Amino acid sequence: MKVVLLGTAAGGGFPQWNCACALCAAARDGRLPSRTQECAAVTGNGRDWWLLNASPDLRIQLAATRALWPGPGPRDTPLRGVLLTDAEADHVTGLTELRGAAGLKIYAAPPVRAVLAPARAALDRYAPWEWADSLADGGFVLAGGLVVTAHPVGVKVPKYVPDQASTEPGPWVTAYRVEDLATGGVLVYAPCVGAWSPVLDGLCAEAGCVLLDGTFFAADEMGTAVRPGAGQAAMGHLPVTGPQGSLAALARYPGARRIYTHLNNTNPLLDPASPARARVAGYGAEILPDGTELVL
Ligand SMILES: [Zn+2]
Ligand SMILES: [Zn+2]
Repeated sequence: MKVVLLGTAAGGGFPQWNCACALCAAARDGRLPSRTQECAAVTGNGRDWWLLNASPDLRIQLAATRALWPGPGPRDTPLRGVLLTDAEADHVTGLTELRGAAGLKIYAAPPVRAVLAPARAALDRYAPWEWADSLADGGFVLAGGLVVTAHPVGVKVPKYVPDQASTEPGPWVTAYRVEDLATGGVLVYAPCVGAWSPVLDGLCAEAGCVLLDGTFFAADEMGTAVRPGAGQAAMGHLPVTGPQGSLAALARYPGARRIYTHLNNTNPLLDPASPARARVAGYGAEILPDGTELVL
């Protein structure tokens, strides 16, 4: 299995267009590497590729990745479909870039499929797509020899959904376990995680590589970097550090390659020279640039 990290920033990207914080300023100056919004691509055979989420930067990401270029026929593409982890704007709006592509298959959990119903109807008018339940019993098999199961890891409802309080609780946020039957390689893809859980322990124990939610380094990061009291507890992302953080949990799985993605523009991990980066490296976890290719 090959995995390409198409984008590694949280919603807004890095730098974010309306943010003048020190980190975003450094990215604009070229002192820190810019990052597009979180998205990845995976293949079992090098010919059939599947997107993990569809970021608003998808057009740029596809153009930057030779394996995803169209051909050999004028309208042929190696892209077979998209696996959505949630319905957040930064993970689904890239679907509009794919409109008109024939025969794509889109996997999502039932609440995500339901809230996207108007968008699905609109997209299906350009070319009908197959919309499948990612949580169907037994998982599913992707062209190219990948076996996938989805696992609920969060309940956060996107902000654009009206009447949040009366919205049905459900598996709004999932992680994916992707296994290559030929190599035995297992990828765990979890760019949005509300809190650590036994589900994640089970997934990490079997994984060769974990792509994990690294949105925030510290629990008070939004409040200190942007505006007092902003806090990210309600934003549905567990921090890297702290008693409820992911770093201590990840340390229990030294057998897996552990990579943080979905980095918010406030996150000190964006700076390779930061003490935060040294600390994460000390635990064996990695921060990688856009475009990194992994083999499992
Ligand atoms: Zn996001
Ligand atoms: Zn910023």
